[in-house]
Amino acid sequence: MKLPEYEVFALRYATMDKRTRRDNFITHDPHDEPMPMDYFVWVIRNADRVVLVDTGFNARQAAERGRTLIRCPIGSLSLLGIAPEQVDDVVLTHLHYDHAGNIDLLPRARFHIQEDEVNYACGRHMCQGLFRHAYDVEDVVDLVRRVYADRVSFYDGAHTLAPGIELVKIGGHTKGLQSVRVHTARGWVVLTSDASHYYENMEKPSPFPIVFHLGEMLAGYDTLRNLADSADHLVPGHDPLVRKIYPFWGEPANDIMALHQPPKARPA
Ligand SMILES: [Zn+2]
Ligand SMILES: [Zn+2]
Repeated sequence: MKLPEYEVFALRYATMDKRTRRDNFITHDPHDEPMPMDYFVWVIRNADRVVLVDTGFNARQAAERGRTLIRCPIGSLSLLGIAPEQVDDVVLTHLHYDHAGNIDLLPRARFHIQEDEVNYACGRHMCQGLFRHAYDVEDVVDLVRRVYADRVSFYDGAHTLAPGIELVKIGGHTKGLQSVRVHTARGWVVLTSDASHYYENMEKPSPFPIVFHLGEMLAGYDTLRNLADSADHLVPGHDPLVRKIYPFWGEPANDIMALHQPPKARPA
């Protein structure tokens, strides 16, 4: 049977201008040029199904952390003709505040997550400010409530969510981070999420400075490369270049990029 093909969209919902290169790499970077960060959720769809990957953050979280919220990431689904009530499946790559807010806005969804991520976010490592910082306890509590409502599916390692949509446990950045591999008309595209914030993190390689396990983080780059059909099929989690090199779907002002179409060459 032929493997289904999906459309894959990156929806930019927020940005953060006040970052420089030294904020974004674990190894010393002598340059101190601006290196902004964009925030995305992703939509995978074909005629049979819609899968949302991550749920972004809300206005409170944006204000608390000094991020610029462009639009509610769940509200932005309407730009693709998707109502929140139509979303049955949500992949949570991990529970950091910029990936796991707004759960309350998805009344029907089942949430797909690695068991290690939930254990991490609820366990002893959260006694450490360094690990806790990027989590928002309200998101974690929201998810735990969904566990008690039987709306969470736990995985330990690789899982095929549907033919052509695969979850890949990477770890590294957090204990249970997962990336998503999607079969498209141009081949296998991999949404790395925070396994690589920027193209440069995986290419140097030099991880983004939020790390639970450095060895897993570095091994993760090889895993991701092996799963994508080419370097042009890897989509980093926070890189503004995504918006520059992929074709817009609809009006550019909507900030929706079609990842199932080939990207332009990246500027040198
Ligand atoms: Zn993260
Ligand atoms: Zn992130």
